[in-house]
Amino acid sequence: MRTFILACFCTALGAQTLTLTFDDGPNRVKTPRLSPEERNTALLAALQKEKVQAIVFANGIDGGDTPEGRTALGAWGQAGHLVGNHTYSHLRFTDLATFRQDFLRGDSLIKGIPGYARLFRFPYLKEGPTLEARDGMRKALAEAGYRNAHVTIPTFDWLIDERLRSRLKGHPLAELEPYRVYYLESVLNQADHARDLGLKLAGREVRHAMLLHHCLLNALFLRDLIQALKANGWTLVGPLDAYADPIYEQTTTRVETDANFLETLAREKGLLPGRAVGLDEAYEREKTALREAGL
Ligand SMILES: [Zn+2]
Repeated sequence: MRTFILACFCTALGAQTLTLTFDDGPNRVKTPRLSPEERNTALLAALQKEKVQAIVFANGIDGGDTPEGRTALGAWGQAGHLVGNHTYSHLRFTDLATFRQDFLRGDSLIKGIPGYARLFRFPYLKEGPTLEARDGMRKALAEAGYRNAHVTIPTFDWLIDERLRSRLKGHPLAELEPYRVYYLESVLNQADHARDLGLKLAGREVRHAMLLHHCLLNALFLRDLIQALKANGWTLVGPLDAYADPIYEQTTTRVETDANFLETLAREKGLLPGRAVGLDEAYEREKTALREAGL
C-alpha cells in the first residue's frame, strides 16, 4: 500500500509539464553587462546545459531583420530549437488587414531559417479587437498552416528585466542577486497558479506553455530558472510535445480580453467566479511588488 501511494505521488509530480517559449527574439538592443551576441549565446547555453528544447518567437524589429539577427535566429534552429512567428513589427492588433499582412511578413522573415515552425504568438496575446477580426485571423492562420501558440503561464520577466536594466544603467555595479531571487519566486508562483487552474479546468495536469522573453534577465538567470522549475517538480518538454495537449484544440468563444487562454476557457465554463483580472492590472500589481521589494 505504501509503495502504491509513493508511486502515485511520484507520477503526479512528474506530470507537471511545461515548455519554454521566448518572445521578441532576437533582441539586439544595447543593454548593460552583455552584448546582443552574448545574450543570445547565454540563452542557448543555458538551454543546452539543462537539455531543454524551446522555441523563440521572432520579430523583424529590434534587429531581427539584419544579417546579425538572422545569424542569431539561425543559432536557435541549429541548436535544435524551434523558430516561430511573432509578426514582423510587433503590432497591436487593431485592424485585420494590416495585422494579417504583418503576420505574413513575419512568416517571410523566418521561412528559410532552421527550426522554422508554423506556430504563431500574438503580440500582447491579443487575439483580436472584435469577433470578426479574431475569426478573420483564425482563418488566415489556418490557411497558412499555422496554429496559435497559446500561453498558459504568463510571467513578469519583461517587467523585472526593465527594472534590472534601468538599475544597471544608473548603477553599473548594482547587485544582481535580489533580482534573481525575486524573479525565480515570481515565476514559480505564476506556474503554480496556472497549474491549479489547469487541474480545475481539465481535471488533469495540463501541458503548459510559459511565456518568457529574449532579454538580459533571462540571459543572466535562465539556467537558475530551469533548475528551480525542475526542483519544484516541473518536467520541461519541447514545444510540440506541449502543444500536442488536446486542451489547445479548444477554442475560446469570447474575445480574449484578459489574454490568458486557461482563464478565458475557465471563465467560459463558469469555473472562475468574478471578473477577469486583465494582464494590465496584474502587471500593475507586480510593479507595486517590485517597488516594495526595492527593485
Ligand atoms: Zn512580444
